[in-house]
Amino acid sequence: VISKLPQTGTTIFTTMSALAAEHGAINLSQGFPDYSCAPELIDLVNKAMLDGHNQYAPMAGLMALREQIAIKTEKLYGAVYNPDTEITVTAGATQAIFTAISAVIHPNDEVIMFEPAYDCYAPAIKLMGGVVKSLELEPPDYRIPWEMVKRLITNKTRMIILNSPHNPTGTILTRHDIDELIALVKNQDILILSDEVYEHLVFDGQEHHSMARYPELQSRSLIVSSFGKTFHATGWKMGYCVAPAHLMQEFRKIHQFLVFSVNTPIQYAIAQYLKDENNYLSLPDFFQQKRDHFRRGLEQTRFKLLPCAGTYFQSVTYEDITDEKDVDFAIRLTKDIGVAAIPVSVFYRKGTDKHVLRFCFAKEQETLDKAVERLLKV
Ligand code: PMP
Ligand code: GLN
Repeated sequence: VISKLPQTGTTIFTTMSALAAEHGAINLSQGFPDYSCAPELIDLVNKAMLDGHNQYAPMAGLMALREQIAIKTEKLYGAVYNPDTEITVTAGATQAIFTAISAVIHPNDEVIMFEPAYDCYAPAIKLMGGVVKSLELEPPDYRIPWEMVKRLITNKTRMIILNSPHNPTGTILTRHDIDELIALVKNQDILILSDEVYEHLVFDGQEHHSMARYPELQSRSLIVSSFGKTFHATGWKMGYCVAPAHLMQEFRKIHQFLVFSVNTPIQYAIAQYLKDENNYLSLPDFFQQKRDHFRRGLEQTRFKLLPCAGTYFQSVTYEDITDEKDVDFAIRLTKDIGVAAIPVSVFYRKGTDKHVLRFCFAKEQETLDKAVERLLKV
């Protein structure tokens, strides 16, 4: 066959997790917890199965779950979404992102995104015949240079992709960014795809600037989130998209033929679990403790910490250790030291190597301590 994605290889998450397993390394590469999700949540799934909820869910998702998503979104961000027409439950955020892009991107449409960027955006854009227009952001702060964004806009610009809190850098959008974004899209026919899978992982008392908070942005946004991330159950592949009805209508045209509907018993369980807001409001404290503990440990090593305002990823630079390429260094760390990380150059289309590695700290304290012990030897 003629490849539709000739430049695309196997995702780094598969590669690094396999390498970690092969060498028995502590896996701080792919982002997933090494502890269980809440036993109560597992009981709820079990109960839903025993109660016979094992057949197809409605195409857009279980209504009880869509209602809880609407309640949560209104409570946190003040936006009112109609569960009937504006919320769809998906097989993880990955499916929501692919579906959103395929629903609105036509051949030659331009999509602006910022690098380093999570790796599933660009392939979806290319498959639709769209054109990626990316801007590389600079460590340590990875701030968006809005003047340069403005210069990227043409009459073909169809979408801007934002991701806050940001994977891999751990930065978050500020109120200043939001003001710039509002000014940028005013009177323009530009949609926003907002990847907010880490919406509940914002630290130091800062707030998450969801697109849903700002009517000028909300009205043009497809917002995606992930229960896998929120409830420590990445293997359940459960997420959702919220968007104004005219966008959601197009989204569902794709969703219905991509998956039709997603896991029924898990939707029952999460619908129930979301009723207790503490189940997500407790997350910043839970992860901030892990972040602070891990950072204290890394401070003893020769790695240099970059800021981490959100997500469960801590990035570091390593100028004092080696001038190896980040990919080579990540492989050597996994094989020789026994700690796997993600080399951040893979999140740039040009492979830009700023000598940054990303560690996932959604791990038991014991795991983090063991990893730091090994990293002290580097
Ligand atoms: N976007 C970002 C920024 C992510 O880090 C991830 C990984 N959780 C996803 C999307 C995909 O989420 P899911 O596992 O729910 O498909
Ligand atoms: N989002 C996770 C990460 O950034 C990985 C998800 C995946 O493996 N596709 O590590």
